[in-house]
Amino acid sequence: MKNLIITFLSIILLVLAGRAIIAQKAQNRAIERWDALVTEVTECLESGDWKCVEKDVRELLRETPGDTNLQMHLAGAIFEQERYDECMAYIDGLGFTNPDLETLRKRSALLKKEMAELGIERSMHFRVEFEGNMSKVDVMEALAVLEVAYDSLCTLFDFRPENKLSLVLYRSQEYQGVGPRPDWVAAVYDGKLRVPVEMMHYREIYRPVLFHELTHSFVRAMTRAKIPLWVNEGIAQVVDGSRTGNPRPAGGVPSKTALTEPFVKEPNADVAIRLYWYSQKMVERLLARNGSFVHFRAFIQGLRELEPDDALQKFYGVGTDQLIEEVK
Ligand SMILES: [Zn+2]
Repeated sequence: MKNLIITFLSIILLVLAGRAIIAQKAQNRAIERWDALVTEVTECLESGDWKCVEKDVRELLRETPGDTNLQMHLAGAIFEQERYDECMAYIDGLGFTNPDLETLRKRSALLKKEMAELGIERSMHFRVEFEGNMSKVDVMEALAVLEVAYDSLCTLFDFRPENKLSLVLYRSQEYQGVGPRPDWVAAVYDGKLRVPVEMMHYREIYRPVLFHELTHSFVRAMTRAKIPLWVNEGIAQVVDGSRTGNPRPAGGVPSKTALTEPFVKEPNADVAIRLYWYSQKMVERLLARNGSFVHFRAFIQGLRELEPDDALQKFYGVGTDQLIEEVK
């Protein structure tokens, strides 16, 4: 009888322990799932993949519906997808506000108004913001040129970005629209493509500039991996074609580190010119081994799993040091 009781108790203990283990495992799985979602949201935020941000943040909010930080990210993701009415309604329904949410609400209302006033339909592939007063002609010209460049890059890389690319058209304060071409005319890419609309008055320069910056947008859309700067600047210059064939700049060979870190940190213009020149030559050496831009896309997508030199070896059978050696 005593043995029977002990056996019975043991079974109960085993069942309880089993349940605790199962509960623990389920909890661990939930925590792992949570961590994976947070990691993915961070990556999607960095790569401007707003559809992904929205999907994951909504899933996280199911677990913690009152998380104000997540709510702000959701409002931002809706805004970035041009759903301005929905964004304003979502903010109104939150029951709290803060300066960031107020800014989003104001930007939503303003963008809606500006698009309506300019009589501009939504662009097919760009989510457009304006800084300063726009003329419809300049905006339409910029969008027309960008759409053509967009189609070319889709064909080149055999890739269509899932999200619209963010475009900020701005009007320089200093620009008066007369006189020679001002030397500030340049676009930048910082996650958004920033284009001075007045650039559209200078046909000879806007084509390479837009192709260059748009290539950066595509690189960002094609992979969430961190890309060595020489790879990113190299491919953008190969595509824009404006510096192809330039002679080697004077000065020493840049280090591998200098070629990998962001160039904009470089205060010395001569050094920067050298970094750009080496970048283009090194990417040209890659394309000499395999000229397919689709293969190049696979390479930069491979950087998500592989260290840069391992990916270079796998896709092109060469390392960074050897590339520097070949072009120096
Ligand atoms: Zn660039």
